[in-house]
Amino acid sequence: ENFMPEKYREYIKSLNDKQREAACNDVSIPLMIVAGPGSGKTSTMVGRVLTLLKEGIAPDNILAMTFTTAAASEMRERISKVVGKQIAKELVISTFHSFSLQLCRSHAEKLGRTTEFLVYGHGQQRRAVIEAMRLVENDKNASREFSNDGMKSFKETSKKWEKFVTKAKASGRTPEECRRSGDPIGASILQHYDEILKSCNALDYNDFISCSIMLLSDFPEVQQECTGTWKAIVVDEFQDTSSMQYQLLRILGSHRHITVVGDDDQSIFSFNGADVSGFDSFRRDFPNHKEIRLNKNYRSTRLIVEAATALIHNNTKRDLKCCKLVETDNPDGSKINVKECHSEEAQCAYVVDKIIEITSSSICNFGSIAVLYRRQISGKAFQMAFRERKIPFNIHGVAFYRKKIIKAILAILKCTLAGCDDGPSRQAFKALFPGDKEEKKMVVQYVEKISYARKCGFLLAARDIFSAKISGTFKRAQLTQGRKVLSTLDMLSKLVQREQSISVVISSVADMLPQKYLLEQRATVDVDSGKFLNEDHDLRSVIQVLMDDVSDFLSNHFSNQEGIDAKENGCASTLKSFLDYISVRETENFRSRRNENGDSVTLTTIHQSKGLEWDVVFIVKANDSEIPLLHDNIGLSKGGGVSLEEERRLFYVAMTRARKMLRILYITLDTNCQLLQPSRFLKELPEHLLEYQGEQDLKQWRPDPKEMPLVESNGNKMTECGGESSCLPEELAQMCLGNDFLKRFQAEERSIVSHLFHQWARKQAFQT
Ligand code: ATP
Ligand code: MG
Repeated sequence: ENFMPEKYREYIKSLNDKQREAACNDVSIPLMIVAGPGSGKTSTMVGRVLTLLKEGIAPDNILAMTFTTAAASEMRERISKVVGKQIAKELVISTFHSFSLQLCRSHAEKLGRTTEFLVYGHGQQRRAVIEAMRLVENDKNASREFSNDGMKSFKETSKKWEKFVTKAKASGRTPEECRRSGDPIGASILQHYDEILKSCNALDYNDFISCSIMLLSDFPEVQQECTGTWKAIVVDEFQDTSSMQYQLLRILGSHRHITVVGDDDQSIFSFNGADVSGFDSFRRDFPNHKEIRLNKNYRSTRLIVEAATALIHNNTKRDLKCCKLVETDNPDGSKINVKECHSEEAQCAYVVDKIIEITSSSICNFGSIAVLYRRQISGKAFQMAFRERKIPFNIHGVAFYRKKIIKAILAILKCTLAGCDDGPSRQAFKALFPGDKEEKKMVVQYVEKISYARKCGFLLAARDIFSAKISGTFKRAQLTQGRKVLSTLDMLSKLVQREQSISVVISSVADMLPQKYLLEQRATVDVDSGKFLNEDHDLRSVIQVLMDDVSDFLSNHFSNQEGIDAKENGCASTLKSFLDYISVRETENFRSRRNENGDSVTLTTIHQSKGLEWDVVFIVKANDSEIPLLHDNIGLSKGGGVSLEEERRLFYVAMTRARKMLRILYITLDTNCQLLQPSRFLKELPEHLLEYQGEQDLKQWRPDPKEMPLVESNGNKMTECGGESSCLPEELAQMCLGNDFLKRFQAEERSIVSHLFHQWARKQAFQT
């Protein structure tokens, strides 16, 4: 009844002809929209949802799939502007992960779990893999083959198996299939792993999708329930759905109204199993579908559109069926600035100066500027520089929830809920126990040992140990401290059962953390990922971010600010779904929307920038080891191989985030005095569109064959390089300058001299 036809008409009128055709097309015909960046795909998808509502489909019968939770909130907001908050709230706008998590929860008993099953994160997953390895080792038949790995360190082997399990789950591989394909060890690992998770009443992130498919295909009642509920499905960023997610979509979408929206040129999640063949599958599975192209870019200036288009034309494996003509009526805009910096610091300083220049001349505010980089770690220097120069900024992504302190708080929160398992208990105990790192470690290890020996849970073991008045292992003070930790946890559990507001619980948890622990938060390396964390250790601001997320979560999911629990029941269920929401989001390259409201510069990885736009975009560290990311540089954590075409798409995504001004920076010397080269993609940008400030000749430069271990996703080595013969800087320096000369320097200096000489020699060679 809140639905306003005139607002709907207004929205539809704001679309162009093609967009309108797509948005208003007969809703019973499956629709596929393929179009380039900034062409209004997401805007059209919003129009499509509005049309579905206008056609009388109830909001809670519409399922909209987006790639990130941020995109979900964004979409809900845009829809609510037309149909009002109430209706918009009823729409189910979700990511594949949280949708399937919900489905698994409501049918947990069919999966051999209870509705309270635990969601395993990376750490717990690793522990389960190690446990599975132990079990396989015990298994007599397998032990000989398994010990083939004996040469490798245990850590390496466990990492390898962890990857294996993740990959198998992402592709829906069963133990039986492994066995059939001649991999008995893999099969046993998978089987044991599944059994361990089952016995712990847990699922991991990769399980949700496959379990949902299983529920839908094996249980007619689940299928019936879903087809009864979901009358229409729309999917944004379709190019990033994995084949498993597509399967789920196909089952859900058969005989439903279905719309998918995407751009194959922006497919950047293949390391996560994303698969552009989804477009072809859709064409095959929905033969009566309609396909619509949008070809006008509304986002970027003409020069940006032209440069990005020229870049992506270098990809040879593009789907011709998806071929797009991209044009724009926007003004030319300024040329794309490409800037060479001699070091990371110089790059930072330059970006900072530019930002201050841009914002003080009131061309735009901080909120319409973004700094994009290939790897999370590159953001760190900017955070420090921004802090120093008092530039407000926000950092997106998983990093926040990987913060030690946030992990500690979340573990403690998990611990307050019934059925918590050992992972969070251990973490919570460690966080609350005062004392230095060594002491904590010693105490936790001892409790672990007892819990293994007695085959009981961690907390139970801890209770036994610390309730004893005397112990051979611990000092009296330690016993008191242990008891105190346990009673704190009890107190917090009681609070959850009594108190309605999650925020109150969270601030109580924060109050309980030992002061010393907080100071240690300056530690910058994350144990799980080995990545650097950001450094804003001001506890209050960290807690505030968490609180903001709580209120985001509540306002997006519930109509009251208290959540789902009945008034007198405390907040256990709401807290549980909040923790689910967080843990799902963590794996989804979440990017918060909060920041657009605040006037601050966005610092984010390119992956997390998808679908978004800013007036001014800086792409930093556009170096040939970063983007394309060299295979053995750090190795992509998830997929192993990096494909050159995917890296080019990533660069394309980065470029097309900019509305008015695009600045690309690269550096020539990294912090270890390694010589760096500009990204080979820069050479693919038409010269007349660039304003180049640098010494290197972008066109002349060829990638060094020695630095080319790029691996295609299928594992083949790529030999795509300019073929220029070259030798290492040290070799060259030795040859030309002589050993005696070089011996005058310390090893480190020698390397710098060699590199500088190498650089100089190259330049000489180019000039002649
Ligand atoms: P991406 O591929 O990056 O996700 P997209 O195709 O989803 O991009 P949108 O985000 O929907 O594009 O739109 C890009 C910008 O163009 C937005 O600022 C949007 O408001 C604007 N826009 C879209 N369609 C129109 C239109 N018909 N008239 C004016 N502006 C439009
Ligand atoms: Mg979009």
